[in-house]
Amino acid sequence: MIIKALVEGNELKGYRMLCSRKLLSCEDKQQLNRLEKGYSGEVLFNERVDGLSKEWLILNDLQLESNNSEFQIDSLVISRKLLLLFEVKNYEGDYYIEGEKWYYINGNSIQNPVHQLERTEALLRRLLQDQGYNNIPIESYVIFVNPDLHLYNAPRNLPIIFPNQLNRFFERLNKIPSKTNDYHMRLAMKLLSLHKNTPPKLPNYSYEELRKGVICPNCYSYNLDSKGFVFLCESCGTIEEMPSAILRSVDEFAFLFPDRKITTRSIFEWCDGVKSVDTIRRILLKKFNLKGNGKASYYERETKNYQ
Ligand SMILES: [Zn+2]
Repeated sequence: MIIKALVEGNELKGYRMLCSRKLLSCEDKQQLNRLEKGYSGEVLFNERVDGLSKEWLILNDLQLESNNSEFQIDSLVISRKLLLLFEVKNYEGDYYIEGEKWYYINGNSIQNPVHQLERTEALLRRLLQDQGYNNIPIESYVIFVNPDLHLYNAPRNLPIIFPNQLNRFFERLNKIPSKTNDYHMRLAMKLLSLHKNTPPKLPNYSYEELRKGVICPNCYSYNLDSKGFVFLCESCGTIEEMPSAILRSVDEFAFLFPDRKITTRSIFEWCDGVKSVDTIRRILLKKFNLKGNGKASYYERETKNYQ
């Protein structure tokens, strides 16, 4: 059972939005690539874990704090007798280890993922204790999902699962007793309640510099032709109903500019190219609550979505 599904993180989400609305610097593009890669690795791993259809509880991408330190968990599985903690890496190419240090083949050092895993495990252990969950065994692994990875000088005793070991690893996981009960569910809910949505670190941007307009959800093109109540993307052929496209754009606006009010005017401007203000008003009225009167009126969501 998936308690917290894997979704693109806010950082990746923000980078994707900015990439289609402004020219990113080379560094920012590289960061976007890294985020995309990391995310697709997690998706890959998750599909396999979900494929086991066990009765355990799965929480993905948790942001937690313990002992005044923040830490992030890629994937946590609560099974009957133990917790499985996974740090998923989508590294590609050749790497080597020297002592405690890890390097890319060109000599650039990278963060030691085993140290990262150990830190996460220690902080999780502490957090569990603080919450009154003592003595739950934790097994932690760094999972490398990309078959185009080679790691030189890897000692045998590291908690690492390499791509060519994944099949056997999943066979082993499949044998773990996974039937959970209320106790496990309470723990899962506790962890979920402690999850924090930390604001993402994004490149600088201003409202003025961002390109306005509705973007195709499939290919991110601005090449949309409005035909009646739908948008047709002239680049990839995707058809989307207008309300869904507008609301998607409102989400983007609200994500990128949390301090700006959602008004008919502001969304009309943000969705540059939509023919009538009335269309925007109608769509907003259906999904949002109208606050205030006349020119000062704005829209608010009924419930805040913290997920
Ligand atoms: Zn398209």
